[in-house]
Amino acid sequence: MRDTDLLKFQRPARYLGKEQNLEFKEPQSKDLRVCLCFPEIYEVGMSNLGFRIVYEFFSNFEGLSCERCFMPAEDLATYLQERREPLFSLETKTPLKDFDLLAFSLNYELNFINFLKMISLGGIELDKSKREKPLIIVGGLTNPEPLVSFVDIFFLGEFEPQANTFIKALKLSKSLSKREKFSALSEIEGVYIPDFYCLERNSLQPKEKEAKFPLTWQYYQEFKDNFYPKNWLIPYIPLVFDRVQAEVQRGCPNSCRFCQARCVYFPYRQRPPALVKKHLISLYEKTGYEEISLSGLSVIDYSSLEELLKEIIPYFEKRKVGILLPSLRPQGKASKILKLLNFAKKTGLTLALETANPLLRRKIGKYIDIDDLKELVKLASHRQYRVLKFYFMIGLPGESFEEVLEIGSFLKELALLYKKEKGSYPQMNVTISYFIPKPFTDFEKEKMADFEELIKKKDLLKKSVRSLRFIKLKFSNYRVSFLEYLLSRANRRISPLLREVFLKVEEGADYLDLALWKELSQKNNLELEYFLEEEFSFKSIIKKDGKVFFKSSV
Ligand code: SF4
Repeated sequence: MRDTDLLKFQRPARYLGKEQNLEFKEPQSKDLRVCLCFPEIYEVGMSNLGFRIVYEFFSNFEGLSCERCFMPAEDLATYLQERREPLFSLETKTPLKDFDLLAFSLNYELNFINFLKMISLGGIELDKSKREKPLIIVGGLTNPEPLVSFVDIFFLGEFEPQANTFIKALKLSKSLSKREKFSALSEIEGVYIPDFYCLERNSLQPKEKEAKFPLTWQYYQEFKDNFYPKNWLIPYIPLVFDRVQAEVQRGCPNSCRFCQARCVYFPYRQRPPALVKKHLISLYEKTGYEEISLSGLSVIDYSSLEELLKEIIPYFEKRKVGILLPSLRPQGKASKILKLLNFAKKTGLTLALETANPLLRRKIGKYIDIDDLKELVKLASHRQYRVLKFYFMIGLPGESFEEVLEIGSFLKELALLYKKEKGSYPQMNVTISYFIPKPFTDFEKEKMADFEELIKKKDLLKKSVRSLRFIKLKFSNYRVSFLEYLLSRANRRISPLLREVFLKVEEGADYLDLALWKELSQKNNLELEYFLEEEFSFKSIIKKDGKVFFKSSV
């Protein structure tokens, strides 16, 4: 497809490439040709810091040519499907099927269908046993098992420690058969080749002599300077997160018992503030963005946050650049930090509280300093923050109906506090998600609350705040949460079912139709409950830092 043909589609810049700061090397005949894929549209994919890090790393590697592809929007997808034209890369418009390797960054279960759609649109056989090329590698998943029918290799954990070794081995194995590639790559730590293992009584067992057992989950211990996108690409269209980001930490020092991210990114590591400052200033100078953000889990806990802000505020304030922090956890110093950010844009204050009941909060391991929270709300009123955003969960283990109702009274109390200072109520945008017991967390063996209970709790909560016009509740979609629950723990027997669901979706069915999942599952002589009741199989073959993964991460 030529660049001018892209004008037929909405936001053609999604498929154009050629962003400012791009240093693209034209592929040479001997190069290993890699396409880095992201199963969401361009605006989401290019907002992902991890994707940018990996893209720049691959692009700088000698003897390798790296391009990108994102999930096309509906107009382009339909156009390609109707004309039987393959999905292509941004940089050279090469069909996906012509690459040596597709490397997917995939970290959300609900994107499995997009992943299959991209492969199918790329003109590639879905079933990996019928495919020799391209090799498909996926990184970012905590439960790869639902994708074993389609993916050749998974990379487990953080990519940085093995990046050099892995890419060198990929290049060396370019001309080998797929089976020979498997043998060569299986020696690298973090590489999981699902064909080398089989499922026996819901635990994975090695079946090939090259199969490593257990496999080692990778983490980037040094967390140094060499992995961050120095050439920050500036897109022609606004992104979901349209700003430069500097990663201040990996992992989280807190112990929220429901949180999968803290287990997966264990142990907690921090970057020295001088290094973060250097990254931010160099990124700003290369891009001229009007906003920068500090990224990481619970950034408020970064131990040098105050020191860092005091260092960078004079530089960015002078240039009228806003500094954004992700959601704040009131833990004692949040109000102090907000005071420092006096000049930042007043986009809204985001607070992840999870539950309003102190005992339940303790039970789930979420520590909130109520005095700090109240101070934050007062400060928000003086600082012209008109919108306060909150995150809560319902359906927590052992949660009563009364505890759900407390969310309404708690919000009212905070709103009154705000009004006392400012004379008017704030706008409160409250997102309520359904608790999903995730693998690797303390609640791995819990069950998700059933539909009837969650709907009752939802209705009760809605009713309790109906008269409070300043509170806007937004609930997660139950069907999305249920599929996330299912796919985050299902064993590999669900893989053929996923394929059947995908084929039905291609015929017009709704991916979120749970009745369809049940019907197709029964057709395969399986009940969906089977996947929810069995032990989480994938954990049986992994370890981290010399110990069984789960034990080292709690
Ligand atoms: S503070 Fe946030 S990231 Fe950290 S453990 Fe709790 S929920 Fe997870």
